Amino acid sequence: MAQAPSFKTVPLAPMDIPLLPSGNFMELRSDHFHSGVDLKTNGVEGVPVRAVADGHVSRIRVGPWGYGLALYIDHPEGLTTVYGHLRAFAPEIAEQVLEAQYSAQNQTVDLTPTAGSMPVKAGEVIAWSGNTGGSSAPHLHYEVRRTRDQHAFDPEALGLTLADSRPPVIRGLRIYPSAPHSRCQPYPGTAKGFATDERSGGFGLQHGVVPAVFGPVGFAVHAVDFYDGTSNTCGVRKIDVLIDEKPHFKST
Ligand SMILES: [Zn+2]
Repeated sequence: MAQAPSFKTVPLAPMDIPLLPSGNFMELRSDHFHSGVDLKTNGVEGVPVRAVADGHVSRIRVGPWGYGLALYIDHPEGLTTVYGHLRAFAPEIAEQVLEAQYSAQNQTVDLTPTAGSMPVKAGEVIAWSGNTGGSSAPHLHYEVRRTRDQHAFDPEALGLTLADSRPPVIRGLRIYPSAPHSRCQPYPGTAKGFATDERSGGFGLQHGVVPAVFGPVGFAVHAVDFYDGTSNTCGVRKIDVLIDEKPHFKST
């Protein structure tokens, strides 16, 4: 995996409320991997959002889709933090946006203030959380990118602390015949799902089922992870497939 620069000092929390994720980094979405962490805002909008470290506003976006109202802050370490689905920007930023909207005669704007023209201090309130853009419930989408190529990194690996004492859960296994002649029991089955249950130190197929297959098949595993204090399902960090104890496939 590409190396991320790191913050000089541990970044502050982006909000003062307990940080409970409703989505984590790289979890599967219907057509993409999630590139940040979704932080719950107690079901309401208007929670103050703070810059996690010193830097300057590098991009301000307002649009009906995607991150809705979004703010990008570049930090001297070569990192950019992104704050999405906001309800409102801090007054100085809001002023710039309003001016740009008037001059463009358009609500949708995408501004890139010159480096240093809009400095922010760590802990400064830069916006208020909301539910704008492609968001179905109030939350803050928080993202950390490498500035030079906008490559996203796991915020949890870059100073975002989330309580997570609960191990992941495997909910099911599905076997997909991957060639026209492939079959999965019971024949002439095609894709077949198997429920799992928890047993000492892990999960297995319910009722001790041992599936039989014919021809090449693929496996899909339904695995989720939970953080402390929230029932939202999140993605797992890593999946290893072993065949007879030997590593065969790995997804991180
Ligand atoms: Zn998100």
